[in-house]
Amino acid sequence: MSGEERSVENGARFPAMVRGDRWELSWDAGGTEIVGGSVAALATAFAVPRYSVAVDMGRCSMTLAAQGTVLLTHCHSDHVAGLLAWLSAHTRRFREGTTRVYLPADRREALVEALRIWPDLDGVRRRVDLDDVLAGVAPGEAVPLSGGGEALAFAVRHTVPSLGWAVGPAGARPDAVFAGDGTVEPFRENPGLLDAGLALVDCTLVEPGTRVAARLAGHGHLKDWLELAPSLGCDTLALAHLPPGLEAQRVVELIGSEPPASGPQLAVWMADDGIENGGNDDAG
Ligand SMILES: [Zn+2]
Repeated sequence: MSGEERSVENGARFPAMVRGDRWELSWDAGGTEIVGGSVAALATAFAVPRYSVAVDMGRCSMTLAAQGTVLLTHCHSDHVAGLLAWLSAHTRRFREGTTRVYLPADRREALVEALRIWPDLDGVRRRVDLDDVLAGVAPGEAVPLSGGGEALAFAVRHTVPSLGWAVGPAGARPDAVFAGDGTVEPFRENPGLLDAGLALVDCTLVEPGTRVAARLAGHGHLKDWLELAPSLGCDTLALAHLPPGLEAQRVVELIGSEPPASGPQLAVWMADDGIENGGNDDAG
């Protein structure tokens, strides 16, 4: 189902587009656009252009590079590997704007040091002072965003120091909550944490029989979220950080076997390729 190689009149050739790299997706959360992708172990990064903010930077893109503030949930590689590209592209192409990274306070010093010794990052170091750019944040702290926005950090339960981020207009209901990686427990104890237009949550494992494994690895499981859904106040619960290689059709089947009786609209944060009777077919 991949595209085909193409050549144009002057003889230049273009490689085929690879199906499967349908990573960056978009959602309208009550008029606020959320853009990004999240595949467990590979890359998670979202942008809310209205507030010029990205949440995580597992990989970079044109949209992500344009955002002036990056909120990191934690420092696992699939959430920060694109930060070097973001620093380079953002400070070169968007040097007039903000350049700011907020991350769990316990990891700030180590990340500043890593960026200080990273080879051949001199251009970035000339353009910005990384000691000013990186700021540590504790749960309960809020940081200002452009466009009248605000991001509130809250505690989550993962295997390393981690934060969740609620992003929206200052002092009002968040447009989106990014739960980051972690188990479902903080949200079972306080469902109000996910009260937002869109809640994006960790659904790293989906198959029956892997629920305990998910919890032991500090991740959420599909069944955890289907059980918790009726107590959540978000408009849409988006299952993200799904495993690489998972087919959308399989998630649809699993949700269909035990659909929540009530609660938010469910969304599955992946391209809908391959869903029977309803997928987008843009082949050719
Ligand atoms: Zn992750």
